[in-house]
Amino acid sequence: MATSSFWHSFADMQAITRDGPLVLERGEGVHVWDTTGRRYVDAAAGLWNCNVGHGRTEIGEAVARQVGRLASFSTFGDYSNPPAEELAERLAALAPFPAARAFLTSGGSDSVDTAVKLVRRYWSALGQPERRTVVSRESAYHGMHLGGTGLAGIEPNRAGYGELVPDTTRVPWDSAEALAKTIESLGEQHVAAFICEPVIGAGGILIPPPDYLAEVARICRETGVLLVLDEVITGFGRVGEWFAAHRFGVEPDLVLCAKGITSGYLPMGAVLAGERVSEPFYDGTVGLWRHGYTSSGHVAGSAAALANLDIIERERLIPRVRDAEVVLAEAFTPLAAHPLVGEVRTGTGLLTAVQLSTDALARDPALPAAVVAALRAEGVLTRAIGQGAVQVSPAFVITDEQIRDLAAAFATALDTALT
Ligand code: PMP
Repeated sequence: MATSSFWHSFADMQAITRDGPLVLERGEGVHVWDTTGRRYVDAAAGLWNCNVGHGRTEIGEAVARQVGRLASFSTFGDYSNPPAEELAERLAALAPFPAARAFLTSGGSDSVDTAVKLVRRYWSALGQPERRTVVSRESAYHGMHLGGTGLAGIEPNRAGYGELVPDTTRVPWDSAEALAKTIESLGEQHVAAFICEPVIGAGGILIPPPDYLAEVARICRETGVLLVLDEVITGFGRVGEWFAAHRFGVEPDLVLCAKGITSGYLPMGAVLAGERVSEPFYDGTVGLWRHGYTSSGHVAGSAAALANLDIIERERLIPRVRDAEVVLAEAFTPLAAHPLVGEVRTGTGLLTAVQLSTDALARDPALPAAVVAALRAEGVLTRAIGQGAVQVSPAFVITDEQIRDLAAAFATALDTALT
């Protein structure tokens, strides 16, 4: 049995049995191999991050070239490096709003913390420090740092820590009206920002009602509340556009990125800010920056991100996601008729889940783990998320045939779990 230096403790995400991790040593495209040489289809793209697929030597080569030139001299403050500058420019050009700027971080949880600090400092700088409350949603996941944990809508992730971030509140995940009412009852002069995942990820791939995001954007605009889209999962093509903001036609104030920015080849993140939120971290009186990380704008991470963006563009992977979305919906929707399945959630790119039925989950709360284990026996790796959903979010390079094979493996695994 393998041992791990990592504590497998994410109750909502844990998938298989507790007898040790599956040790994976290499991958290519949608496939990964364990240390015994067994091959699996990676149906989860790592943790929704390996968008361009495994084994991309061109990313490795770009990183190696960069590491050979310069250790990451931190970009904290008034320093930078060519890959970080180029990445910031490319991100600004891709951002779903004009005049964007990029604040580079070292991951998604950093991006969330950065945003919470940024929105509060923004209002303080405008002489409205009482405009502090950050509203998030039930079922939301915003990372594991104190900021994201404090905002979490997945209750077990937040439980037991006390109040990590004061002045936060949560609203139902699917009701713009509830957001409007909450802002009204708090008083808009007390609300700094609303943060949401355009499609909820770890909470179970929850796709909002059709006009939800447009309505939320309107409410935020009318009340002055800053709209923060956590696109750590949805960004960089996963929903068939560069950002979910493009797909849903909304213009947020901030966009949070990580994961797909490098396709997971190195840790990296970014906060994209529109015109309205500018430079609250710069302390002009002493000429110092008051926020940043040692690895912000990491030179090799930025090189990995640039090589990754090149692949997405060169191989036209975003249009491919739109086509794959249709094939995936056709292949997986019939599973909704299976006695263990409540719903198949498709229609937002390669961000999909098979939701087990309420009855089946009531009979056997361990069913999601059993389905995931049965899938592993079929040579498919994925994880249970949310309230009994199983994730289907492969790399963008998956072929139509591989999608159909994946659906067949799901059908077999569900039958196994039924018996
Ligand atoms: N926000 C969302 C929506 C996420 O899904 C995640 C990671 N699953 C994070 C933030 C945190 O990212 P990281 O794990 O890179 O810190």
